[in-house]
Amino acid sequence: MLRRADQSHADIRDAVRDLCTHFPDSYWRETDKQRVYPEEFVKALTAAGWLAALIPEEYGGSGLGVTEASIILEEIQRAGGNGGACHAQMYTMGTLLRHGSAAQKEHYLPKIATGELRLQAFGVTEPGSGTDTTSLKTMAVRKGDRYIINGQKVFTSRVQHSDMMLLLARTTPRDQVAKKSQGLSVFLVDLRDVYDRGFSVTPIDTLMNHETNQVFFDDLEIPADSLIGEAGKGFRYILDGMNAERILIAAECIGDGYWFTERATDYACERVIFDRPIGQNQGVQFPISRAYCNVRAADLMRYEAARLFDAGEACGEEANMAKMLAADASWEAANACVQTHGGYGFAREFDIERKFRETRLYQVAPVSTNLILSYIAEHVLGMPRSY
Ligand SMILES: Cc1cc2nc3c(=O)[nH]c(=O)nc-3n(C[C@H](O)[C@H](O)[C@H](O)COP(=O)(O)OP(=O)(O)OC[C@H]3O[C@@H](n4cnc5c(N)ncnc54)[C@H](O)[C@@H]3O)c2cc1C
Repeated sequence: MLRRADQSHADIRDAVRDLCTHFPDSYWRETDKQRVYPEEFVKALTAAGWLAALIPEEYGGSGLGVTEASIILEEIQRAGGNGGACHAQMYTMGTLLRHGSAAQKEHYLPKIATGELRLQAFGVTEPGSGTDTTSLKTMAVRKGDRYIINGQKVFTSRVQHSDMMLLLARTTPRDQVAKKSQGLSVFLVDLRDVYDRGFSVTPIDTLMNHETNQVFFDDLEIPADSLIGEAGKGFRYILDGMNAERILIAAECIGDGYWFTERATDYACERVIFDRPIGQNQGVQFPISRAYCNVRAADLMRYEAARLFDAGEACGEEANMAKMLAADASWEAANACVQTHGGYGFAREFDIERKFRETRLYQVAPVSTNLILSYIAEHVLGMPRSY
């Protein structure tokens, strides 16, 4: 297992790049085409300890910071891969780490660190509430030493490749709390024995190869000690984890952005039309240059957000801006890359269209661009709350 003291950023980049050479474009093209989970890649990443980056050493992880974790995910994307298959294994445990009991942490974190347990499913979004999280309807009702869960989640990713799921459910009905953010609770649901006890999953076929699902709870009983922290405070606990998630997703977008600009540049230099490289035309150069500038700018904001996070300082503004700037920059770079490749940008064997589909997600999930803009408007600039 890698230790914080041994790892420079350059070491981390080199090691992740080296691992990714075993999973070339053809691997990702094929898993995308077959719509299968990239199990071999996830196993290799787990075995090398990279998914345990944020778990403290006392629980068997590497005790690295968000800066280092972000570099790991950036390098995966930059190598042409898709960390979305497993990135949540890195950060979903943060809620357990920050708010779980000593017994819960000792029991689960070492197993999550080795990969014996996968905690990479996160059930928040519901069909009826969407972005309006506190309107969610899934209920968990306490009965003796159990909670009984009823409701539905949507877009619950990786649930078929998870042993545990972090679930946000209402424990006090909305009309019985003063503020709608109260009365929500977080549970760590053991998925290994629930499938014949009121838990079912229906996969959602999506634009890209991303295992995501509808999840149904029908009188599912779970032990009362599955509750994390205090009942009723779950919304706060989930918010606490969002800055890390935003910074890590920003890093993935940045990795994508570099991948697109590198591919576009290489192709612009190689492709000869009208007896000269297409990259000799400023009409081809400028969109790539502009996208590169925006990726670099987003990269700086990512590092600033990660620096603040790792120093234990407030970073909501920077984490949100990093996520939005990086998602915009990767999407701009994706468009420039497709355009540079002309018709070949649409051919599967060039991998551009696959990465184009993959990077589009980050305008919407895990938080949509509009919601970031409204956060900045309200919490940073001081304008009236819009929703
Ligand atoms: C592939 C994929 C994987 C996902 N994985 C997970 C997961 O693992 N766990 C999980 O819980 N969720 C997951 N999500 C859900 C994701 O977080 C939501 O899709 C996202 O938060 C938006 O919610 P919604 O789809 O219901 O859109 P809606 O809330 O219906 O919003 C639709 C559009 O309206 C805009 N909008 C809504 N309200 C406002 C407003 N007040 N002002 C301005 N614009 C507004 C939004 O920005 C959005 O563009 C995933 C989604 C996808 C597509």
